[in-house]
Amino acid sequence: MTATITFFPVDNGDMTLLKLADTDATALLIDVNIRQDADDPKGEARDVAKDLRDRLKKDANGRPYVDAFLLSHPDQDHCRGVARHFHLGPLGDYPDDEKDYKDKKIVIREIWSSPIVFRRASKTHTLCDDAKAFSTEARRRVQLNRDKNFVVGDGDRILVMGADIDGKTDDLGPILRKVDESFSTINGKQSAFFSAHLLAPLDANDDEEEEASLVKNQSSVIMNVTLAADAQTPDGAKFMTGGDAEVFIWNRQWDRHKDEPDVLEYDLLQAPHHCSWHSLSDDSWSECGEKAKVDPDARSALSQTRDGAIVVASSKPIADDDSDPPCIRAKREYLAIVKDAKGEFFCTGEYPNSKAVEPLVFTVTSRGIQPPSKKESGAKAAAIVTSARTPMPHG
Ligand SMILES: [Zn+2]
Repeated sequence: MTATITFFPVDNGDMTLLKLADTDATALLIDVNIRQDADDPKGEARDVAKDLRDRLKKDANGRPYVDAFLLSHPDQDHCRGVARHFHLGPLGDYPDDEKDYKDKKIVIREIWSSPIVFRRASKTHTLCDDAKAFSTEARRRVQLNRDKNFVVGDGDRILVMGADIDGKTDDLGPILRKVDESFSTINGKQSAFFSAHLLAPLDANDDEEEEASLVKNQSSVIMNVTLAADAQTPDGAKFMTGGDAEVFIWNRQWDRHKDEPDVLEYDLLQAPHHCSWHSLSDDSWSECGEKAKVDPDARSALSQTRDGAIVVASSKPIADDDSDPPCIRAKREYLAIVKDAKGEFFCTGEYPNSKAVEPLVFTVTSRGIQPPSKKESGAKAAAIVTSARTPMPHG
């Protein structure tokens, strides 16, 4: 199979599907943001739930499924629609076998979730219903793993991202993934087609000020995922994604990894927090305007590009005004970063144009990451057809 990374147009929010190059086309979904308007046939938003189901495999019972689902952090724009579109609870209670495919809930064979990210998020706000439902399901799976000595099946699996406080996750060895370590297991199987380096959430810090900053800066799971292009090309492309992590966290990433920049190196970066200025600066864009200063260390953490690197903002269209996110000044920084790498910048809310958005699909090949082929206007496309008919000079 061809490895792909698909960004769905979900306004300011994330919903990203990774498919591996293995014969099973193993699927990892990172976050969802399926708005009511996208589910409403009369709504203006694109039907991204259909876009997603169209790309998923069906199991032996005809149920759509993902091999793994990572929730970067429990804010609404990262888990909206999870209770409506995904089956939460034991697989034996699956309710939709008699329904049409489009109405069947999606099975999550393995959850990837971070208790410390939930803990930090609950300190700043009340979690939304989708986040609570997801958390209940994650806790059910952790408990079942304890009860069954980690021998569980599809629909009961979970990987815990990062250690929790007070040794709460110390007994979860086989399902705990530690910060600064890489892993290659997905849904209980070792895969030769991907490896994920876990960069955050940083472990709880005894220094109260440091911990308070981690809480305030939208702690999220940050992962640098290496996707194989094929069996011979394990390092096809590196994709770094980090939810809504803000400037303090990226600053700390540089502090931790500046002597090993390959840890932060990427071919494709999901611009954190929907292209927010707050991932690059402590200053407010709307208050300081052009006087707002970039945090050089956070910028360094976010600019370890490989040749041809691409940055994607999963956001509304980016306007030249005071908005944030997405923020025009952040876009300018990312444009400068990709220009140095001879790469490109994309925004999901503008692809292929802001009036009629579509999923944005990148393919991983042995020559690196390939952006979608450019959509041409009618006249231009016709011109290309004409020129294609002209014999090649060296034909
Ligand atoms: Zn967000």
